[in-house]
Amino acid sequence: MEKSRECFLSVDDEPGSICVKNNRSEGNLFECTPRASFISDFTSESRATDHSSASCQLGSSGSGLKWITQYKNSIKNIEDLSKFMPFADDEKNKLKQVEEIYPMRITNYYLSLIKDFSDGNDPVRKQCVPSFDELTQGSNEEIDPLTEVAMSPVPCLVHRYPDRVLLIVTGRCFMYCRHCTRKRLWGKDKVDPSLDDIKAALDYIKANKQIREVIISGGDPLILSTERLDYILSLVASIDNIEVIRIGSRAPVVIPQRVDRNLCVILKKYSNLWINVQFNHVNEITKESADACAKLIRCGIPVSNQSVLLKGVNDSPQSMIKLCRKLQSIRVRPYYLFQCDQVVGTNHFRTPVSRGIEIIKEMRGYTSGMCVPTFIVDGVKGKGKVPLQPNYLVSLTPRGAVLRSYTDEVFEYKS
Ligand code: SF4
Repeated sequence: MEKSRECFLSVDDEPGSICVKNNRSEGNLFECTPRASFISDFTSESRATDHSSASCQLGSSGSGLKWITQYKNSIKNIEDLSKFMPFADDEKNKLKQVEEIYPMRITNYYLSLIKDFSDGNDPVRKQCVPSFDELTQGSNEEIDPLTEVAMSPVPCLVHRYPDRVLLIVTGRCFMYCRHCTRKRLWGKDKVDPSLDDIKAALDYIKANKQIREVIISGGDPLILSTERLDYILSLVASIDNIEVIRIGSRAPVVIPQRVDRNLCVILKKYSNLWINVQFNHVNEITKESADACAKLIRCGIPVSNQSVLLKGVNDSPQSMIKLCRKLQSIRVRPYYLFQCDQVVGTNHFRTPVSRGIEIIKEMRGYTSGMCVPTFIVDGVKGKGKVPLQPNYLVSLTPRGAVLRSYTDEVFEYKS
């Protein structure tokens, strides 16, 4: 028997037509059927004065624009992108093939961070512009290498570790990062989980009292309207066993305008809220993105950074040191450096595991410990996160240890 489902409205290209799409077949993460009564997602912030597309021309980051205008004016196809970044005809055709499989979306703000549009090695460009390499499948790559779908006891909830769960509230993002672990969720026809799905996830959390932390992720949760996000946060916060709520978002990096007054007002209400962002290169730290983080911090929210180690973007000690020092200076804690997951379509970004360890070795001791993230390989098939670091322990006995210093000096430490 088909179950009636409620669907939140969500910000989209055409707000008036939202949620008329039907169910899709991607696992059980999202289902949505139309219903007469919706919780409006098209809020006062989205009704703010619209700007003509002319005012969104690059050259200005468009930082004065409202976030919904920024989002709606995003570049969503190769044809539009080619107005800024000339492609040869055959190149354009090939990139359109990539776009068919892996959609693209780039905010004008983020595109403006590319220093030279003709430079294929620009670290910002590599993260947002589709590449033919996405059509190559590496031998160990899978669509869902972390087996998130298999570890979902109910739709939109991943339960891997005993005391925390991941709540996937949307499959949409302000920008589609080409290295994303959840490329499987991208798609023009994909919509957000229904309210029924979210409530089923919350019932699961209530019934499993060992869960103390909920990580709200996506997609990008900040793509939801402020009201809708507040509603979900309030439901999560009302669960007795929940002590901590975390949001994972790239909004401060790719559309810092999203961190506006309305958002701060609602986030401030949750005293147990943490936010993790994803800066991967120092060029992403601008006045706008630093301001967005500062606003969150002023709301009393600890902000940490989870970088992904990306070939040609940040895979050198110098690049990571610059990034992490800059993060520290804006009071964002460098928390994790992730090995790029073995997701289909990301082979060109992946570095050997040894590279991550080498980078940490070049950082530890040479820069403040607060600037050194933990290098993590997320184990395939849901094995969980494995922290890796250079070997500083040469040998261990009941009487002490032989240790290696950051300068490779071996010495004895007596217990
Ligand atoms: S914002 Fe996050 S979920 Fe969205 S595409 Fe980027 S990495 Fe993936």
